[in-house]
Amino acid sequence: MRRDAPLEEQIKVERVDVLSGVTVGELADKLGVPGAALVKKLFEMGEMATVQQTLPDDTVEILGADLGVDVHFLSEEELEFGIESPDDPTTLTWRPPVITVMGHVDHGKTKLLDAIRQTDVVAGEAGGITQHIGAYQITKDDRRITFIDTPGHEAFTAMRARGAQVTDVAILVVAADDGVMPQTKEAIDHAKAAEVPVVVAVNKMDVEGADPVRVKTQLTEHGLVAEDLGGDVPMVEVSALRGLGLDELLEVVLLQADLLELQANPNKQARGRIVEANLDRGRGPVATLLVQGGTLKRGDVLVAGTADGRIRAMFDENGQEVTEAEPARPVQVLGLNQVPEAGDEFRVVSTERVARDVAERRSARDRRKELAERRPTTLEELTSAVQAGDKVTLNVIIKADVSGSAEALEDALVKLELDEVQVRVISKGVGAITQGDVRLAEASDAIIVAFNVRPGANARDEIERSGVDVRTYSIIYEAIEDIERAVKGLLAPEYREEVVGEAEVREVFKVPKAFVFGCMVTKGELKRDAGVRVIREGVVVAEDRIASLRRFKDDVREVREGFECGVGLARFQDVKEGDFFEAYETVEVERA
Ligand code: GDP
Ligand code: MG
Repeated sequence: MRRDAPLEEQIKVERVDVLSGVTVGELADKLGVPGAALVKKLFEMGEMATVQQTLPDDTVEILGADLGVDVHFLSEEELEFGIESPDDPTTLTWRPPVITVMGHVDHGKTKLLDAIRQTDVVAGEAGGITQHIGAYQITKDDRRITFIDTPGHEAFTAMRARGAQVTDVAILVVAADDGVMPQTKEAIDHAKAAEVPVVVAVNKMDVEGADPVRVKTQLTEHGLVAEDLGGDVPMVEVSALRGLGLDELLEVVLLQADLLELQANPNKQARGRIVEANLDRGRGPVATLLVQGGTLKRGDVLVAGTADGRIRAMFDENGQEVTEAEPARPVQVLGLNQVPEAGDEFRVVSTERVARDVAERRSARDRRKELAERRPTTLEELTSAVQAGDKVTLNVIIKADVSGSAEALEDALVKLELDEVQVRVISKGVGAITQGDVRLAEASDAIIVAFNVRPGANARDEIERSGVDVRTYSIIYEAIEDIERAVKGLLAPEYREEVVGEAEVREVFKVPKAFVFGCMVTKGELKRDAGVRVIREGVVVAEDRIASLRRFKDDVREVREGFECGVGLARFQDVKEGDFFEAYETVEVERA
């Protein structure tokens, strides 16, 4: 019997470049060995895996070390666009610093950003209507400074969560009459983690009771030592309200920036990050971009996350149309086919075809990930898992109005443990549901049980985006009963979706403000405001809502089987001929 050579000897490559989340099969291909051989190797290492299975990064690393292959993890960009050599130093020129303002709520971040913007003579003279585009640039002593205009560290963390580092210097706003507060500490932690230098703006100096010395002392306890106390953190006393100290603040910021020797190559295809994006009713997807390298030009084709398109128009923060944007310049662009997410990287590519391919590959990857990562994270899903006989853990985050009720809830929930379900309280606290709670819930597949508290405004967006199951109660007994029912597999779904119709997309029209999809209703009926899934080759590519429905020139409420109509969607615009629309309605169902 012939024995195969050891796996190590079959491998001819010294190095493999892989994307995080590689499957056994993909890795085997890169190593030039059969998938089964790798499965066997993993088995010997004590890991059970199939060829289709995704491997954790550390397993891939260990495997690489074991096989004598150098494993290099690529970012998506590297995988798609190749590994780039750093810019030749002779191509680099000075670029403006990019500043983020952080600090506790109500300490004056917004006010400060507004006040700084008003100090900008250039914007003032142009007399343009200042728009909120998520970022702006000012000129101070003939030098430009870019501000990210989405105050708070939410924007900052959202960026960092996507691997984006756009900030060069952080301004930490601390109100002189209030001192260091919880979000001040969080902001300090974020800046430290990102290794971004901090300039402290001690704000509200005009207020009676302003105590900058106390602020400085408090900051020292958090590792930020003022220069006059022997440290190296510049602190400037300001009043955003009165416009005092702003010049000095900007000078200090520029000084800090000088230490960083910020440079970029303006002479290449542009790339950078999405600062902010939304769907404008009239103009379609609108995105604010921060150029980080190269020069962005009108007419460029770009890909940003899963969106792509050609730049139709480009505006600065004063609403003026511009044709070019150099490094550190924020611009608002029109022409993308979808709304990208803040923090997404954008790249200019050579052709629309390339942009399309990359964007589609990313969408497909996102969908795969989503499917792979689904675990029971709503009570309904828990119920079906229990009914299917799976053993599950239900992670719970408790938020309550007072700590007594949080504790009572925890006690009761933990006591609920049954054979097939383990309830685990991963966090409990007092106060409104915060964005942080929702992110924690999302990251740990938890549901949030809220007693007499509701989500704050930011948290609400986050809940919408993440789909985290939030259950609000005002009677402890009800909360317990509800979860008990779910645990026992008895909770009937509150809502059920009912498919009401199906239509085939036959033609795509571009109308001045959006796209209209010419359809033939092939089953049931389409209704305005119904939910709709866009289905391409059997795969759901988007979930949306029917925003407009027309027969010839007339708006109609519904269109029946066998009739043609024009459909407009609320968000998703990237519909193709041959796609199907599946319209559904959500019907309420009596609880069992
Ligand atoms: P943010 O939550 O950090 O963005 O804080 P805002 O900029 O919204 O400011 C919160 C409140 O403090 C508002 O009522 C501002 O008018 C006020 N405020 C901001 N800066 C100053 C200041 O320098 N002096 C005084 N007296 N009030 C200020
Ligand atoms: Mg604010």
